[in-house]
Amino acid sequence: MGKIIIVGGGIIGLSSAYYLSQDGHSVTVVDKGDFLDNCSYGNAGYVCPSHFVPLASPGNLVQGIRWMARSDSPFFIRPQLNSSFLSWAYRFARSSNARHVKDSEAPLRDIALFSKDLYQHLSNLPGFDFRFQSKGLLEFFKTQETLHHEKETVARALDLGIQARLLEPEEVRLMEPDLSIDILGALFFEGDAHLYPNLLMKNLLALLPQQGVTLIPNTEVSDFKTQGHRIKELDTSSGKMQGDQIVLAAGSWSGRLAAKIGIKMLMVGGRGYSLTLKDTPAILHHPIILTESRVALTPLDDRIIRIGGTMEIAPLNSPPRPGRMQAILRGVKQYFPDWEIPDPQPQNIWTGFRPCSADGLPYIGRIKEWDNLTIATGHAMIGLSLGAGTGKLVSQIINESPASIDLRPFDPQRFGA
Ligand SMILES: Cc1cc2nc3c(=O)[nH]c(=O)nc-3n(C[C@H](O)[C@H](O)[C@H](O)COP(=O)(O)OP(=O)(O)OC[C@H]3O[C@@H](n4cnc5c(N)ncnc54)[C@H](O)[C@@H]3O)c2cc1C
Repeated sequence: MGKIIIVGGGIIGLSSAYYLSQDGHSVTVVDKGDFLDNCSYGNAGYVCPSHFVPLASPGNLVQGIRWMARSDSPFFIRPQLNSSFLSWAYRFARSSNARHVKDSEAPLRDIALFSKDLYQHLSNLPGFDFRFQSKGLLEFFKTQETLHHEKETVARALDLGIQARLLEPEEVRLMEPDLSIDILGALFFEGDAHLYPNLLMKNLLALLPQQGVTLIPNTEVSDFKTQGHRIKELDTSSGKMQGDQIVLAAGSWSGRLAAKIGIKMLMVGGRGYSLTLKDTPAILHHPIILTESRVALTPLDDRIIRIGGTMEIAPLNSPPRPGRMQAILRGVKQYFPDWEIPDPQPQNIWTGFRPCSADGLPYIGRIKEWDNLTIATGHAMIGLSLGAGTGKLVSQIINESPASIDLRPFDPQRFGA
């Protein structure tokens, strides 16, 4: 079997490496960083078949426009005057319609359920503990408008075979008895799970070399040399690299790398922020989304809670906005009025760029022009959730074996070559 080079060591690249090496391939993962921090670390850890509505939806578009003038809003698009951003924005706006949402529901459900099963399986491997827990997901809400919307979500979820029900505040207080709560109600997705992303990544980084995978840190891929319909060589900051098959899993940077070999893959980075409370006296029993504030809370481990949020579409080299985390914490206070969260030290605020496709569906598949290239990116808000599933699908693509789910909705060239 030939040599496979994976560009990018986030959850998508490492999961791909895991399944490909399980199948006996010789695999190298190359990353411009040290593998110890990327978007796959500081996220909320939701493994969430409940997230069957793509980012490109009428609700998000309307809210995004409404919030556009407010740079402290949870969903903020910083307009950029370059053609790749403008093409993305145009496609995002065009995709944000009811038809697209409907068409995306089943594909997103299928890949999420597939991925969740794989995480469940991984969590049973000896010594591979990443605190995988199937406790469901609560979505707290405070307004009648959201209640109305959540009723529709329940109906859509049940149609898709995803368990969902509305809870009264009293029922929620029985499930979350340790903090006082100020809500109108909650939506409960019983079938969701969560995990501790940092432990998952740490476990994978320890396991992969034992499976023969080579990890090359601090090496940036800058270009590709091609011959006929194949990528022959990668130009990297440490010299040239050759592989028989190439997997592009470079997260938010994938679009600009793909453009080097003429692939038009509309992508932007959507920065998010998180704060991990360690040794916290607060106790949460479930992952919780604070719907109107767009904040995600996760009990990652004993006395460890992560608070995250914000989708800030901004250039990949733009500086983070320090006030953003305070806005997130103010959002928490609206639902948990008595929860005193100490002001975060700037060095404890984590940020990462979600790789956002133009229609909210990932790009997974082959490229017509290049026989030995597989794309796996663009997962936006659900890349951790879909990580294991995407890795397995990449292995099936490269093995030329039947894919476990229909890959057509994820065609990387669905917006044209
Ligand atoms: C606050 C927040 C909360 C989130 N919560 C959740 C959640 O609960 N559930 C969920 O499913 N998802 C969540 N996400 C989204 C999820 O984290 C991402 O979708 C996922 O981590 C993307 O993984 P990736 O492997 O594609 O990218 P990354 O993790 O960013 O990895 C890409 C890697 O490619 C490398 N790279 C880039 N360019 C090059 C190059 N030229 N050469 C070599 N290497 C390169 C980078 O250094 C990086 O290590 C959240 C995100 C944020 C920000």
